[in-house]
Amino acid sequence: MNLKGKTYVVMGVANQRSIAWGAARALDKAGANIVFTTLNDRFKKQIDKLKGELEGDHDFMVNCDVTSDEDVERAFKEIGEHTGGIDGVLHAIAFANKDELKGGYSETSRAGFQLALDISAYSLAIVAREAKKILNPGGSIVTMTYLGGERAIPNYNVMGIAKAALESSVKYLALDLGNEGFRVNAVSAGPIRTLSSSGIGEFKTVLKEIEERAPLKRNVDQLEVGNAVMFLLSDLASGITGEILHVDSGYHAMA
Ligand code: NAD
Repeated sequence: MNLKGKTYVVMGVANQRSIAWGAARALDKAGANIVFTTLNDRFKKQIDKLKGELEGDHDFMVNCDVTSDEDVERAFKEIGEHTGGIDGVLHAIAFANKDELKGGYSETSRAGFQLALDISAYSLAIVAREAKKILNPGGSIVTMTYLGGERAIPNYNVMGIAKAALESSVKYLALDLGNEGFRVNAVSAGPIRTLSSSGIGEFKTVLKEIEERAPLKRNVDQLEVGNAVMFLLSDLASGITGEILHVDSGYHAMA
């Protein structure tokens, strides 16, 4: 894959375990320029350290808390001014209170529901709204989802509902932005140990189940997911939009 001359915004690197970091490594290897957005300065410091592992400089970084309209508007305005246009965005952002990720879904609080849906689903809409102002022709947006948005998976609870909303948003955004020739897709990743997934109750059991029952009899890693993200961001996927691409060792296809 050669992505020299292309610029992608990568949202959601928290540390070296982040799925977004897997995508960043893939994009960097292909020669793309990356603009990282970070929740706050703590994560910015973390990315500054990690960037040493990449070939490119990727020096321009902006803070962007997706719960703030102003932040998202400012971030993409600054990115547009700095880059002169982008070729795509990876939205790899989600959050739910740890208390909501164990036990029964009926115990979900109203505030917890709103928070999870706001950060994990609504944010894609506002990111798309601001990104399309600076997307180059053929631009592509990719988000990250999980099987828990399609099926009820123990403990995933409100995050499953958020992922269902996110996956539906992918389709509506594909319809909306398709008028301008932009594409919107999601990668549905198998379970991977990250900062976010560490908050999900009995996560070990989920990993073990994949090893036992998925066609490939193993779990996927960040780079495999990152490669699929890169494909959807690239022109190789120019005819694909509104798609949910599973990168989960085939587990989703099993009864
Ligand atoms: P992660 O914790 O490394 O990444 C989550 C990111 O979301 C962090 O960088 C965090 O800073 C960011 N974030 C949270 N609230 C934010 C806000 N208000 N504004 C901006 N950023 C905010 O975990 P991850 O597992 O790499 O998660 C990335 C995406 O992949 C998420 O959407 C997650 O649901 C999805 N996913 C993860 C798995 C898995 O098993 N790890 C599987 C399928 C899908």
